[in-house]
Amino acid sequence: MTRHAVRTTAGKINRSDDLLADEKEVAAAVLRANPDFGNPHVVRCDWCHETRTLFRDENEAPFKLTSHGWLCETCNVRAASQEVKF
Ligand SMILES: [Zn+2]
Repeated sequence: MTRHAVRTTAGKINRSDDLLADEKEVAAAVLRANPDFGNPHVVRCDWCHETRTLFRDENEAPFKLTSHGWLCETCNVRAASQEVKF
């Protein structure tokens, strides 16, 4: 169980997809065991509608991490981000 799996679960929660039986509990346990991860955020650009699920120290194109959240580099606008809590 890695950050990648937590990210996948967070994305499902954000989209209200069906979760596997204990998927949410497993992801929550990983975060409890690794408090430095913080909670993942669903990052979305209102202009190009790109969406990624990212931890607070992650960059993934087209999003670039700034001190105030993420910037969509394609559109050069601040992306909306929503913290996912387990
Ligand atoms: Zn964009």
